[in-house]
Amino acid sequence: MSLILYKKKRDFKDTQEPKGKSNPIVSKLSFVVQRHKASHLHYDFRLEMGGVLKSWAIPKGTSMNPGDKRLAIMVEDHPYDYKDFEGIIPEGNYGAGIVEIWDKGFYSDIQNSEKEVAEKKLLEELKAGNLKFRLSGEKLKGEFALIRMKNRGENTWLLLKHKDEFAIDEEYNSEAKTPKNSPINKLLKEHLSEKLPASKKRSSTETGIAIGTEKKK
Ligand code: MN
Repeated sequence: MSLILYKKKRDFKDTQEPKGKSNPIVSKLSFVVQRHKASHLHYDFRLEMGGVLKSWAIPKGTSMNPGDKRLAIMVEDHPYDYKDFEGIIPEGNYGAGIVEIWDKGFYSDIQNSEKEVAEKKLLEELKAGNLKFRLSGEKLKGEFALIRMKNRGENTWLLLKHKDEFAIDEEYNSEAKTPKNSPINKLLKEHLSEKLPASKKRSSTETGIAIGTEKKK
């Protein structure tokens, strides 16, 4: 497990994101879903494994409906303490935009083994491209699977909900489940209301950030 790519992409003088120093101490495996309003809105799904957070970017977010297969693009490992990160990644930095924790909690393998056993099993499943686990979050609960798609490169996966007592039949919209009045959301609204036509856009030094814009040179 390595954070080389994570560190390479970021300038820690400029972004408040964790440098990746602390290691897991709790007796359970953690997961987090971060809503990331960058150039494209997506949800970052992260599972603690081997001391880092294995990470997938899910454009549409997770679903509690077993009928929904959600595309999940595997990205670089993130440090363990990234699970607590919320805030603004300044314009010009990798992933510039707003990160808020959408859901978090613990997870395990399907058998609910103790941490060390679960982790070993999960790492094997990850390698095999067929990961099955149980989430205990505020929003996300029950059994899920991450399946690597064949012939679509190493990084293209699908996130599926298994049928269980937590599964739903209705449409599941992650955006509708996002709290409207969280501090980070207020910040987002302020920035959006400040948004002007491109020609009149305030400079990054005035606003600190520009939402929905690509990295500028
Ligand atoms: Mn992201």
